[in-house]
Amino acid sequence: MCGIVGYIGHREAYPIIIKGLKRLEYRGYDSAGIALYDGTDIKLSKTKGKVADLEKRLEKEISTTGTLGIGHTRWATHGVPNDVNSHPHYSNSGDLVIIHNGIIENYESLKKELIKRGYTFKSDTDTEVLVNLIEDVKKNENTKLGKAVQIALNQVVGAYAIAVFDKNKPNEIVVARLGSPLAIGIGEDEFFIASDASPFIEYTKNAIYLEDEEMAIVRRHKGIKIRKIKDDSLVAPYIQELQLNLEQIEKGGYEHFMLKEIYEQPSAILDTFRGRLLSNEAIIKMVGVEDNMKKFLNANRIIIVACGTSWHAGLVAEYIFEDLARIPVEVEYASEFRYRNPIINENDVVIAISQSGETADTLAAIKLAKSKGAFVFGVCNVVGSSIARETHAGAYTHAGPEIGVASTKAFTTQITVLTLIALRLARAKGTISSSDYRMHLLELELIPEKVKTALESDAYVKTVAAIYKDAKNFLYLGRGYNFPVALEGALKLKEISYIHAEGYPAAEMKHGPIALIDENMPIVVIATKKGHYEKVVSNIQEIKSRSGKIIGIVTVGDEQVKNLADHVIEVPETIESLTPLLTTIPLQLLSYHIALMLGKNVDQPRNLAKAVTVE
Ligand code: GLU
Repeated sequence: MCGIVGYIGHREAYPIIIKGLKRLEYRGYDSAGIALYDGTDIKLSKTKGKVADLEKRLEKEISTTGTLGIGHTRWATHGVPNDVNSHPHYSNSGDLVIIHNGIIENYESLKKELIKRGYTFKSDTDTEVLVNLIEDVKKNENTKLGKAVQIALNQVVGAYAIAVFDKNKPNEIVVARLGSPLAIGIGEDEFFIASDASPFIEYTKNAIYLEDEEMAIVRRHKGIKIRKIKDDSLVAPYIQELQLNLEQIEKGGYEHFMLKEIYEQPSAILDTFRGRLLSNEAIIKMVGVEDNMKKFLNANRIIIVACGTSWHAGLVAEYIFEDLARIPVEVEYASEFRYRNPIINENDVVIAISQSGETADTLAAIKLAKSKGAFVFGVCNVVGSSIARETHAGAYTHAGPEIGVASTKAFTTQITVLTLIALRLARAKGTISSSDYRMHLLELELIPEKVKTALESDAYVKTVAAIYKDAKNFLYLGRGYNFPVALEGALKLKEISYIHAEGYPAAEMKHGPIALIDENMPIVVIATKKGHYEKVVSNIQEIKSRSGKIIGIVTVGDEQVKNLADHVIEVPETIESLTPLLTTIPLQLLSYHIALMLGKNVDQPRNLAKAVTVE
């Protein structure tokens, strides 16, 4: 996955592209590059490293004038992250230049053919093959760039969002998409191209999101022409008004996006249930669920497909759906589900969870489930994303843009949405009493305030972080609803501090991980009052007997764990099913502070990217 930006219009392209790339760095930051047309030729500069590295180098290397340009921030799939493999890539003649997000799966066979025809390659990327394929078609068929792109893409297997231009026709950029997102911002006598709308939000609120298998020729004076790549048919442009604003994608005084997003959770959770949770009337209103109630009620089971943090939210949902709505639930890694010939039919409901709504494996799992006749419901954050469009119905989390690569508010808002759905279904099925239902609604309404209280532990969490920051391993334990939270806590630590951490069900510890425990091992144990408290206390005793260092996440006022643990971090009391929304908070803060103390890049951890748009 990677971020692509392009501009054609009356302004200087360079500042727009560089700023846009910075906003898209969440998608990848192995390398960055820009190609500008300066009125006579293409000026290209690219480098391994971040957009800031490119900025330093570029201004020494090339002139930055020009009103047409494309830029790229890479998350390498084919070829190591070095200068040569960075995008943009030239074609052999030097006439064409391309940026690409995705994977050309059949690049090897295409490359062999092109080599036979005399083409040479500088990089190891699949992308350089594509730009030369386009050039080859253009020459052989004697066609314009748009047609050549179309013919070439019909020979390609894989996924792409591309932008390409020809220095001999510097009044147009050709773009196309299959599987990777591509938005076109429409201004007055100017057009913006980007992986999402954030690079052009201050210039225009009007955007077209290309659909899969569509391409567009974007001409400065003549506007946009969209066609289907396969059959060449014209597509009427659908212009959307963007809801995003600039403050939402800036740090707002916080040192890092991750910290900002951790602190946004009270309002994000509130936004998630605003208009949906009407506790006075004891009603949950969710259109996507209401309209498909029969599907949900007749379902034999619910299969949740997701990856990473979203998968952990799915595990929490498994507990709550089975507990409250008495519907059997299976939670699957999307990447496993799609390749293992799963048994699935029209009586299954599949819930796909993804913050970005672009996760390639989840998207493929959705397509598979649909092809088998299942009803597919999406839970994502990014409005208008591919998953939102691909699913039969869905519910947005309304968390606002999440830019820190380590997911925080997406997780808690996903749990909030899934809790609302479970409660609504439980009510419809009659598996929850009306008093219990009301009590859940009232408790859920109190969660934003309680998250605020949980955030007050920040300073203390920082002191705990300072004590354990040099540990080589961490263990995270939880039971029931808090087992997935233990997994999520361990994942957060791994992602941003690079410390090895494992999440485990507390009771499973004695079947293996207990062997790891010695006086150097910090063990985070989620031991809230509701939820197998006594059992977890026994597990803590077992750790203590082996001299492990215990960091307890406890309900406010807890004394028992306090007497056993080395440190306790308190969270407010709530009902068991909602505890993950609170216990997650100190774990996010712990990983944040440890990573920061170790000097790691919290918002852009190595090797990762925010939206995993490759499988
Ligand atoms: N496959 C291309 C490369 O490795 C693009 C990668 C991406 O989309 O992140 O350069």
